[in-house]
Amino acid sequence: MSLAVEHDVSLKPFNTFGIDVRARAFVEVHDDAQACAALRHADAIGQAVLLVGGGSNLLLTRDVEALVVRMGSRGIRQLSEVQGQVVIEAEAGEPWHPFVLATLAMGLAGLENLSLIPGTVGAAPMQNIGAYGVEIKDVFHSLIALDRHTLQTREFSLADCQFGYRDSRFKREPGRWLILRVRFRLARHAPLHLDYGPVRQRLQQMDIQAPTPADVSAAICSIRREKLPDPAELGNAGSFFKNPLVPAALAESIKADHPDLVAYPQPDGQTKLAAGWLIERAGWKGFREGDAGVHRLQSLVLVNYGQATGAQLYELAQRIRADILSKFGVELEMEPNLY
Ligand code: FAD
Ligand code: NAP
Repeated sequence: MSLAVEHDVSLKPFNTFGIDVRARAFVEVHDDAQACAALRHADAIGQAVLLVGGGSNLLLTRDVEALVVRMGSRGIRQLSEVQGQVVIEAEAGEPWHPFVLATLAMGLAGLENLSLIPGTVGAAPMQNIGAYGVEIKDVFHSLIALDRHTLQTREFSLADCQFGYRDSRFKREPGRWLILRVRFRLARHAPLHLDYGPVRQRLQQMDIQAPTPADVSAAICSIRREKLPDPAELGNAGSFFKNPLVPAALAESIKADHPDLVAYPQPDGQTKLAAGWLIERAGWKGFREGDAGVHRLQSLVLVNYGQATGAQLYELAQRIRADILSKFGVELEMEPNLY
């Protein structure tokens, strides 16, 4: 199996922050055999591996002394249909949003609330991507991954993935599993999730009384285009911090000082706080130092105005974390994967 390994490659086109670091070695793989060959090659030359899909959840703070393996596999297929329940399989390198649109065009419901999330199918399980009240765990069937240690493939069920809030076992075992393909449990007819944020209101503005899954997708795309910076125009990796889960008592004490705190009680007794609200209230919204900044509309999004380095963005994030801890007693956790 011959691999087209390149050397000393700029990763700027391969991460949505647009950080210009270099990879010692880089290869794009298109099928299982190439993926396996890339892992063998890394072993043979004694290098670590960094997997990259769309690079939309990565903060690169230095040159990468590893073999960067970019997932370029393609393919979407239906595996089964039983009483309106359809299992769809997609290869890891499929771009996420076009995949969502393809399932909607097939008349399938389930992924509409996850429209317009950048990145690839293969990276979606990494942090159990979620938006507007739906996470992929809600529609997940199984996945196939290659074990970096044994080079054997393994099937993971829903329970095996240990999905949590923006979390999974894959995120907790970085570099161990190369996800080859993911299967989703979709439906010909399924209840729509319209009660999160401004979705219902946007559908009304669009004059849609009886929405289809495709209508929900269109509404969410229009909300997202208004609220979020497009990485093609302004470097970013979406939300930079997870929304923190804190003890209810801490949320109550913050609320005593700030009655407009945005807080959502959770079934387990904790309270989820909107990290964006904390950052905005601490005065960081629109902050800029050099080319590293906090977006002027979305304080949860750190941005690269052009020439910021990953280290500068990381340093800004650390200052924000320290400030939120001292002002509110809340620890923020970074969402993108750090290299
Ligand atoms: P990458 O950034 O390439 O990789 C992310 C991690 O996954 C890395 O650790 C990488 O090594 C690993 N990885 C990549 N491919 C594989 C593979 N095949 N097998 C194993 N590991 C792999 N996220 C949400 O959850 N919800 C949102 O609503 C959302 N909105 C966003 C909006 C914007 C504007 C941006 C820029 C980002 C947003 N994100 C959101 C974050 C990001 O898009 C998702 O986490 C996405 O799934 C990352 O996919 P990717 O292919 O770009 O992953
Ligand atoms: P928003 O609607 O302004 O809401 C702010 C925060 O409050 C969200 O982060 C959301 O948490 C939480 N929230 C809102 N309504 C809620 C409800 N009914 N129950 C529980 N929690 C609620 O958020 P936004 O920034 O515009 O983002 C909209 C959606 O897209 C969110 O789900 C967000 O996670 C997702 N998104 C994610 C990224 C990313 O990079 N991870 C980037 C952009 C948007 P949750 O985040 O837990 O949903």
